[in-house]
Amino acid sequence: MKIGFIGVGNMGGPMARNLIAAGHDLTVFDLAEESVKALEKAGATAAASAAGAVSGAEAVVTMLPAGAHVRKVYEEAILPTAKPGTLFIDCSTIDVDTARDVAGQAADKGFDMIDAPVSGGVGGAEAGTLTFMVGGPQAAFDRAKPLLDKMGKTIVHCGGPGNGQAAKICNNMMLGIQMISVAEAFVLAEKLGLDHQKLYDVSSKSSGQCWSLTTYCPVPGPVPTSPANRDYLPGFAAAMMTKDLGLSQDAAKSAEAQTEIGALALDIYRRFTDSGNAGVDFSGIIRYIRGGGAK
Ligand code: NAD
Repeated sequence: MKIGFIGVGNMGGPMARNLIAAGHDLTVFDLAEESVKALEKAGATAAASAAGAVSGAEAVVTMLPAGAHVRKVYEEAILPTAKPGTLFIDCSTIDVDTARDVAGQAADKGFDMIDAPVSGGVGGAEAGTLTFMVGGPQAAFDRAKPLLDKMGKTIVHCGGPGNGQAAKICNNMMLGIQMISVAEAFVLAEKLGLDHQKLYDVSSKSSGQCWSLTTYCPVPGPVPTSPANRDYLPGFAAAMMTKDLGLSQDAAKSAEAQTEIGALALDIYRRFTDSGNAGVDFSGIIRYIRGGGAK
């Protein structure tokens, strides 16, 4: 299939590589020239503009930082340039309102579109094991599924337009809150003279069990692969968690949902990020909590 891929950064780059490896014909564009060059070496054709990547494509995949980028690229390049019948797949993590608005514009022009944000990080993008949370009409999902299968392992159709984004920000709100809860518990344990490993042995088999504890444990030792064992190198940067918690709060306001702990988690992550920790793994929040910064 002839695919235009716009946004080949940390995530988009390896996702595009997996589509090339599956035999697809990719034309890529990114504002960062070096990212485009790297993809050219992997077998893609470089486009000089976003519209250049869209022209002649049967499917267009976008993997951009935030809603404003997605809106701009769709309104200025994709919607005016795409040939009739082109399938649109936006994999960026963006706000639900923008996702629904852009999907509405695409539908008005007769295009099939899905929002398909991912979880699994750069490692999952490289390995082709991402989880895709998909929003959009069934027909668009069915057309996109074979492509998503080449980039991911778990593909869940979550409902209509924007529901992929809704699933992503609800999940990451749980994750952000749970990481703070695990970090607070370890800091309290330290003050009570309870060994990290002992708390882990108990809680990993008890009702406190969660992914933030058993896969991403914020203290070094109990889970050797967690970022705590490599001085909190990401992984998943605190700035990204702050972004996603912000998106969940925007959505909660817009939908009038009560998410008080989510709001508090955003406040704590924002302060952590603003105090020079934007690029630190989000589990590094434990150092901030231990240091009293989260008071
Ligand atoms: P990134 O910054 O590495 O990549 C984004 C790319 O978009 C950059 O290369 C940038 O130059 C490009 N870009 C920005 N505006 C553009 C435009 N107008 N035209 C063309 N290219 C443009 O970010 P990333 O880590 O790849 O994340 C991309 C998305 O995936 C974000 O929405 C992020 O929240 C989400 N995400 C990231 C991770 C992760 O672990 N990195 C995990 C899940 C989801």
